[in-house]
Amino acid sequence: MEAIQSIEDMYQNMKSALKDVVPDVELRYKAELAVEINRLKKEKNAVILGHNYMEPALYFSIPDFKGDSLELSRQAAQTDNSIIVFCGVKFMAETAKIINPGKTVLLPSRKAGCSLAASITADDVRQLKAKFPGVPVVTYINTYADVKAESDICCTSGNAVAVVESLKSDTVIFIPDEYLAKNVARETGKHIIFPGTNPGSTYTDTSLDYQMIGWKGRCEVHEKFTVGDIEAVRKQFPDVVILAHPECSPEVTSASDFSGSTSAMIRYIEKTAASRYLLLTECDMGDNIAAANPDKEMLRLCSVRCPHMNQITLEDTLKSLQNNQYVIEVPEEIRVRAVKSIERMLAIG
Ligand code: SF4
Repeated sequence: MEAIQSIEDMYQNMKSALKDVVPDVELRYKAELAVEINRLKKEKNAVILGHNYMEPALYFSIPDFKGDSLELSRQAAQTDNSIIVFCGVKFMAETAKIINPGKTVLLPSRKAGCSLAASITADDVRQLKAKFPGVPVVTYINTYADVKAESDICCTSGNAVAVVESLKSDTVIFIPDEYLAKNVARETGKHIIFPGTNPGSTYTDTSLDYQMIGWKGRCEVHEKFTVGDIEAVRKQFPDVVILAHPECSPEVTSASDFSGSTSAMIRYIEKTAASRYLLLTECDMGDNIAAANPDKEMLRLCSVRCPHMNQITLEDTLKSLQNNQYVIEVPEEIRVRAVKSIERMLAIG
C-alpha cells in the first residue's frame, strides 16, 4: 500500500490527474481528507476498494484497488488486510463479505442502496422456483445476499451470456434486471417471458416457446437513457462513439456502438482512438476516464445520476475508518449458500 506523506504531495498528485475535472479549491480540501484517510487506513490495516462510479477526487486518491464490483471482491480476497472499506453500494460490500467472511467489511454510508437489488426478495425467488421447478436460477451480482443464496449461479454484466450458455439448460430463470435479461436473450437467441409471481399468470404451460424467465427489476440510472438521447447526440457530434451499459434497454444498446460492463467500457476506450466518446452510464465514470485518458474527449449525460453511489464521499469514508462504521454482516446460513453461487460463476471464468 503506497503511503503519501504530505498534503502537498497528495494535492499535486490529484491535481495532475484532475486539473480539468475538479476545481482547484475543492482539490486542496479533498487532499487533506485523503491524506488523513490513508494515514488511518495504514494504522488500522485496512484496504479501500473504489468502484468505477466513485467521484473523481475519491477515485484518484484513496482506493488501493479500483474496478467493477466483482473485480474488487476478487482483489479483496487476495489481500491480508483485516478491514475492507468498500466505496460502492451495499450489495457490493455484501459480496465482499460473502467472499471474505473472516474480515470486517465497512460501507461508509447506510444510504448506499440500489434500485435493482431492492427490486427482488428471496421470497420472490422461492416463488419463481416453485412456479418453474427444476429451472436453474441465474442471478445478477447486483442483488442482496439472501437472493444470491436462493440462486444456482451468479453473473455479472460482463459474463452473463457465458454463464447462461454454460448451464446448457433449455430454460433458465434470469433475475432481476429486465434489460440485462433482454440483452442476454437477444444475444443468445432466446425467447424471454416475464411472468412475475402473480398466481394468476399462466406461463407454466410448457408448450409455450420460451427459454428465459425474467424479472422486471431495473437500474434507475440506466433505464433513463433513450434512443432519442443517442440520436440527438449523434446529430450534434456525428463522429461520437457511444458506449452503453447492458442495464440500458435493448433499443439503447442496439443503437450504441458498444455495450459492456464498466470495466469493458474502460478497456474499449483505452484501446480505441475515436475523437470523442459518450458513456451511457453513471456520470462520474466519464470524469474518471477523462482524467485517466487526457487525450480522449468524453461527453456525458449527467442529468442522470445514481443517488446511491453518490452517497459515498471522502468525508463519510473518513468517518467509516474513525468509527468502524457501517459493519456489513451476512448470516452464516445465508452466506454459505450465497458463496456457492458466486464460486460457481468464478469457476466458469
Ligand atoms: S447505478 Fe443502478 S445498478 Fe448501480 S448502484 Fe446505482 S441504481 Fe444500482
